Amino acid sequence: MFCLIIILLRFSLMSVKNRIQFKNYALISEYKLAYVRRSILFWSQSNFSLYPWRENTSKFHGLIAEILLQRTQADQVVTAYQNFVRLFPDAAALSAASLADVEAIVATLGLKKRAKYIHELGIFLASKEGFINDPEILLRIRGIGQYTASAYLSLHCGVRKPIYDSNVSRFYSRFFGFPYERELRGNRFLADLSERLTPRNNFQQFNYALIDFTRLVCKSKANHKTCPLSRKCYWGKLVNFEQGL
Ligand code: SF4
Repeated sequence: MFCLIIILLRFSLMSVKNRIQFKNYALISEYKLAYVRRSILFWSQSNFSLYPWRENTSKFHGLIAEILLQRTQADQVVTAYQNFVRLFPDAAALSAASLADVEAIVATLGLKKRAKYIHELGIFLASKEGFINDPEILLRIRGIGQYTASAYLSLHCGVRKPIYDSNVSRFYSRFFGFPYERELRGNRFLADLSERLTPRNNFQQFNYALIDFTRLVCKSKANHKTCPLSRKCYWGKLVNFEQGL
């Protein structure tokens, strides 16, 4: 009898998970957004991932890093990035190199097409005065999409830009209790929510914290029990309650 009650309770919780999800995004309170901001920044103080592109102040290398990081795990990018910085200290050096030189570095990441884009980018940047921080110009460059442009501007150029990728979308969906938004391109919901969540001032620090948190804590197989946001997280509360039964 007791087992039957447990099974029925679990079943009803599962249907609650499916039912409660709503799509009225405007209902997210400023209080809740402030909680997320504060908690993630606090978590980051002792969990910041120190990658070489986070210490390098070169905008040129910052843009290259964001291109190398596309669909690639950060740990895998470290060696390629360090080799790149050593061989190509600036856009002029990159523009003078052959495509084969660039391919030799980027090939370790497995995406040959990116070598072509990076080589073209070097030639383009070497022909310009100063560096580009206009999103519209960046988005016209082959190999640079919305995420790369926003990450580059906010993390390397001091321009406030919200960022979201599939990891961030998964975190939003779990924390706020929304259906998972798979389509990132042109997604108004993700754009609006990220805009509201990104702080006015320490946006660089916040974006790094968001990248790290959604990669290391709110990952696909997350440990909701030890997560510092579980107390107010829609998904964490349900899962922890179920597991506590
Ligand atoms: S409790 Fe779980 S779902 Fe919620 S933010 Fe933490 S890891 Fe993500």
